[in-house]
Amino acid sequence: MLNKLHAPKPKPVKEPKKKPSKQRVLVRWSDGHYEVVYRAGLNMLHVDKLWPVGTKQISVHQALIDILDRLCSDFIRRRDGFQCVLCGSREQPQNGHVLVRGKWGTRWDLLNQHCQCSSCNIRHGKAQQAHYYYNWFMGRWGMGAWEYLCEKAESRRDNKSWTVLELQDLLEHYEALYEKLQGMASYDNYELVMSGFYGEKAKERYK
Ligand SMILES: [Zn+2]
Repeated sequence: MLNKLHAPKPKPVKEPKKKPSKQRVLVRWSDGHYEVVYRAGLNMLHVDKLWPVGTKQISVHQALIDILDRLCSDFIRRRDGFQCVLCGSREQPQNGHVLVRGKWGTRWDLLNQHCQCSSCNIRHGKAQQAHYYYNWFMGRWGMGAWEYLCEKAESRRDNKSWTVLELQDLLEHYEALYEKLQGMASYDNYELVMSGFYGEKAKERYK
């Protein structure tokens, strides 16, 4: 009995601690559609014809950022008729940001994005050449819009300043917009402004 009391206690078998897994999603493409499948929750998001067929795994946060980027790029080029707003060229139409994409407050602001040919887009990124696009923007939308953009640009410090929920809300907003405009070869910007896509103030700015 005594021996038994003094016998060393058997060490409890430790369960290996599971690392809290990052929330991941599986992004699948097929037939021009892709799905974002949440590992937790199985919420689904559908966006049409944006990415080529393929499969990869990324975080929910990053998936939403990628989707928003691609959705905006497609949307903006259609809105501007696949034509560079600066020089009128239709060569390699791209989505040109007035304030750089790294400004997270305005990364997906529709006012901050316009269709540019690749040459004008590259030129905008070069030192001392950005004023061409700035001048165009000022002439097109005015000082009030410029101030609005500059202020909004600083409202988010980095990508982490956006929560998954906020990104989801924004994506839903754009998806609705995208759906509404499905089937149109290009979007009438005047119609967009007047229907309030840029907010109420933009109606006054539109000339
Ligand atoms: Zn151009």
